[in-house]
Amino acid sequence: MPIIGQIIYMSFNSLGLSNALLKAIDKQGYTTPSPIQQKAIPLILEGKDVLASAQTGTGKTAGFTLPMLQNLSQGQHMRKRPIRALVLTPTRELAAQVHNNVKAYSEFLDIRSAVIFGGVNQRPQVATIRNGVDILIATPGRLIDLQNQGLLSLSKIEILVLDEADRMLDMGFKRDIDKIMSLMPSRRQNLLFSATFSREIKNLANSILHHPVLVEATPENTTVDAIEQKVYRVAKAKKTDLVIKLISEGNWKQVLVFNRTKHGANKLCKKMVSAGISAAAIHGNKSQGARTKALAGFKNGSVRVLVATDIAARGLDIPLLPHVVNFELPNISEDYVHRIGRTGRAGASGEAISLVSADETTYLRDIEKLVGIKIPKEVVEGFEPDPNASTEPVKQGQGRSSRNRGSRNSNSNRNNNSKRNSRRPKRNSDRRSDNRRN
Ligand code: AMP
Repeated sequence: MPIIGQIIYMSFNSLGLSNALLKAIDKQGYTTPSPIQQKAIPLILEGKDVLASAQTGTGKTAGFTLPMLQNLSQGQHMRKRPIRALVLTPTRELAAQVHNNVKAYSEFLDIRSAVIFGGVNQRPQVATIRNGVDILIATPGRLIDLQNQGLLSLSKIEILVLDEADRMLDMGFKRDIDKIMSLMPSRRQNLLFSATFSREIKNLANSILHHPVLVEATPENTTVDAIEQKVYRVAKAKKTDLVIKLISEGNWKQVLVFNRTKHGANKLCKKMVSAGISAAAIHGNKSQGARTKALAGFKNGSVRVLVATDIAARGLDIPLLPHVVNFELPNISEDYVHRIGRTGRAGASGEAISLVSADETTYLRDIEKLVGIKIPKEVVEGFEPDPNASTEPVKQGQGRSSRNRGSRNSNSNRNNNSKRNSRRPKRNSDRRSDNRRN
């Protein structure tokens, strides 16, 4: 597979995009294409299949949307517009964000787009599709639901985008993806975007992409240099007080705090509010309305702290976030890279802090191995780690039910988790299944 490394193009004008797209880009205020855009846009315009390593914050959405719009607008419109491009995303939030991007970039083109996801009434979504759309952005569950009801057809798809494919696999969407593949014509352009390249992702890419070109925005599984990473060793029971102290005394205005469980996120959020810090929680049990409201509040500054689980936070577009706190380390090392990728965006500096208790020692070791650095460690006076605490990893699975076929798009995973209560230290692959309902 050829690897495109060199950055040759310096402006959007030289990428081969049409005037209508350049006008839309100008309206967004973008002057220079990001590295992933410089590399991916010309290849996609040529009609190549692309396997791209890029996470949220790199400009990946414009990286696939701009050339996709150009390719589609060069084709002939059929009288009754069939869906010609499908963008699959793991979460509702990401689907909505991608749709916003598609709408903005297609402002000066004769292209219609729509977004569908679960957790909301399907009727308006169906009505929009009936009117004819060129580009559909969808989460897998709702897409299959509507297809099963005979309310949409994928038989005219020319371009398929799998966005955040690694997260789709983590969330157990492999079977749905396979089913969706079987509903599309085999001759089409395929674009797969993923922040990490596990063996599973490479297998998926092999099964979907035809002679793909690999493009990389950042080296695989490394953290962005602009992010200052720090670990505070702390007793588990003192984590809440420590995070409140750091936020209050540091006068941090916009902080994303990660929790492993929904229950933990709710509990921490309540404690923050009691301490006079405006906070909101975002996780898979929250309604779409509550999630949208929490995110809007966080973006406009009325909510100072957003407490999130990994899956809920995935794909959120929060530009220039100054502080990320890992209240608990993720049990899947790759999630650490995703989490801290929320800060230090677009060249801005950021700070990623992890509160680590004795039982997270194995997770920290795995993370340091993955990112290839030793993260500096500190202890805050009065918040010392407990010397007698066990270094055995915490038991996962607290408060989670198993498979729930009824809530397809609730960011849930549908694999059974038979290893949940194992006492042995878990490997990443085992731990992955512990996280899926958060
Ligand atoms: P994404 O990685 O697609 O989630 O994009 C992250 C953010 O970067 C979004 O807010 C985009 O609007 C913004 N963005 C995308 N491309 C550019 C660019 N070339 N210059 C400046 N900002 C951009």
